[in-house]
Amino acid sequence: MQEWNHALLEHIDSLHAHEPNQDAEQLAHIDTDYSISATDHTADPAQGRADLVKLAKAHLHLHFTGSMTVERLRQMSKKHHITLDPELLNAHPLRVPADRRGWYRFQRLYDMARRCVQTEEDMRTIIDDAARIDAEEGSKILEIQVTPDSYAPIMGGLTPALEVMLDEAKKASERHHIAVGVIVAAARTSHPLKARTLARLAARYAGDTPGTVVGFGLSNDERSGNTADFLPAFQIAQRAGLPLMPHGGELLGPEHIGFIMNNAHPARMGHGVQAASDPELLAELKHNHVTLEVCPASNVGLGVFENKQNVPLRALYDSGVEVALGADDPLLFGERLEGQYEDARTIHGFTDEMLATWARCSINGSVMSDTYKKPALAAIDQWLAR
Ligand SMILES: [Zn+2]
Repeated sequence: MQEWNHALLEHIDSLHAHEPNQDAEQLAHIDTDYSISATDHTADPAQGRADLVKLAKAHLHLHFTGSMTVERLRQMSKKHHITLDPELLNAHPLRVPADRRGWYRFQRLYDMARRCVQTEEDMRTIIDDAARIDAEEGSKILEIQVTPDSYAPIMGGLTPALEVMLDEAKKASERHHIAVGVIVAAARTSHPLKARTLARLAARYAGDTPGTVVGFGLSNDERSGNTADFLPAFQIAQRAGLPLMPHGGELLGPEHIGFIMNNAHPARMGHGVQAASDPELLAELKHNHVTLEVCPASNVGLGVFENKQNVPLRALYDSGVEVALGADDPLLFGERLEGQYEDARTIHGFTDEMLATWARCSINGSVMSDTYKKPALAAIDQWLAR
């Protein structure tokens, strides 16, 4: 029954995706919601960007396939003779009215992009690109999230798929002067026993240096599957010393955030943005030092909030909860990490002190050893004193 519903919804979604005229009409209106009003706080947008690129930060929420640039995806699709939905190549495939965004549209496009990743070289290129681009945006640490079972068929198994990613993470770290770790994430849409297999695999490579597994996550549609069924997988990871960083609190509300916090005891939570409506929960998250990986462009792209102005960044900041901004899937949501900081400044009026506070949260929320964190924290102080 559930499968039938999914199929139907996907069908409806795909029908919507092929109504170009209506989309185009509404785009004109929607575009204004997305545009960055650079004149509000920064006289010269290029200057503002250059300034934020100098702010040291850690990128803690970026998915493997979703990290690709549109240009890289275009190259891979050509190389493998795969015809992509043109929507996927227009840089803003989710820039449609809020009621048309949603998970099914996102997942359909994401799966299409994933089909273009067909060789070890492709996998290495994606990691290298992500490390390079993040380093160019001022990230000192990148913890990239992968679900190895999606790529196991390419490499002939889960273990070689993960090992290639870890090997490339280490090499890309040296090449681009950024510490790249890997978060292994199970999909909520897969069987919980598969999550246990992934947790055991992740445990074998646990560490806090570039090219190691730095955490265990749970991703995909938050409304699918039952979080309680994944607790045994979480325990396997935790027993191996791996911090947990499951997704939660984007598509579901405070109750789900509270369940994860109290039952899984995560170090971080992917999103958690819905906690903003519950001051008590925010206080508990703060008390438990749970860092929220907040990804505003993703929230808007999935229709969780109608526009960027509505993402409750100020409420989160005022609560004192630790927040690390993230890009989630720039391939689909159109913005990378620096853009999230830029929006916090230009749309939400964040001062330099506030931006530095969240940059520090991102470094402190990282699992990497102090060898990588201390210089980054010192660089943030320097940026503030500039
Ligand atoms: Zn995510």
